[in-house]
Amino acid sequence: MAVRSHRFAGPADLHLHSNHSDGTEAPGEVVRQAHAHGIRTLALTDHDRTTGWDEAGAAATALGMTFLPGMELSAKHEWRSVHVLGYLFDPAHAGLAAETERIRGDRIGRAERIVRSIGRDYDLHWEDVVAQTTPDATVGRPHIADALVARGIVRDRTEAFDGILHPREGYYEPHYAPDPLTAVRLITDAGGVAIIAHPVTAGRDRMMPVPFIERLIDAGLGGFEIDHRENTEAGKQTLRRIAADHDLIVTGSSDYHGSGKPNVPGENTTSDEMVARLIERATGSSPRYP
Ligand code: AMP
Ligand code: FE
Ligand code: FE
Ligand code: ZN
Repeated sequence: MAVRSHRFAGPADLHLHSNHSDGTEAPGEVVRQAHAHGIRTLALTDHDRTTGWDEAGAAATALGMTFLPGMELSAKHEWRSVHVLGYLFDPAHAGLAAETERIRGDRIGRAERIVRSIGRDYDLHWEDVVAQTTPDATVGRPHIADALVARGIVRDRTEAFDGILHPREGYYEPHYAPDPLTAVRLITDAGGVAIIAHPVTAGRDRMMPVPFIERLIDAGLGGFEIDHRENTEAGKQTLRRIAADHDLIVTGSSDYHGSGKPNVPGENTTSDEMVARLIERATGSSPRYP
């Protein structure tokens, strides 16, 4: 453990997005931005997508950084959108790969329905959204936001999410996502470590009930992303207590999306001890070292 810990020099940022989902930069550029902000260990965690790993891993090791393969798997508990970070899993695991393909496929039809609905009131077309995505991207509301910006309807993603894309405006549509129990089991079964992303945000996605979180722990949950700008202070305290009681991993990350969000690489970091525990626990794939 001590020897392996030497191989990654912190600081570690374990939650960043590229244009393979809803970040605005290619994986290699995400890595360069993280490096410029002092990060030396990083995980690429695109939504429901692993295609950025090779480019990010090569860029990271070329810069002397450690790369951990990751993904942010979409899940849903009752009405809540729940994001489950998976690290160091086997991307060829049939069950997990099938689930991510199902989510990604459904997200496209859902985005088309949202755009059709917005298009009844605004000059917005599906082609506008396609123009904002790369062929690899997991399509989401951020791409619709970018299309609204390109059309001059809103100024930026924030304005789009606060307005037209907010469920209260009536254009919102859900997409298929598995139950969090299924998400945790799939990541764990694929040899990965499952960490609930930003588990205690304010508003409609607020925290899952503690008894349900305990079921996730029984199903193999590895821990919680606690240091994240959207977690509430009260929620962080609750989660730290649960994590200590169950000897779970706790992480801190930026959730960088390029220019798509104000989040900056390294604004939150994960301790060397917790990175070491993640690596020790995983069996599905290996970190990439320089
Ligand atoms: P979707 O999964 O398609 O419903 O879109 C949710 C995604 O939008 C999340 O992954 C966030 O990264 C992004 N998002 C949510 N709120 C905002 C916001 N205010 N500004 C920019 N991106 C946002
Ligand atoms: Fe996102
Ligand atoms: Fe998320
Ligand atoms: Zn994220």
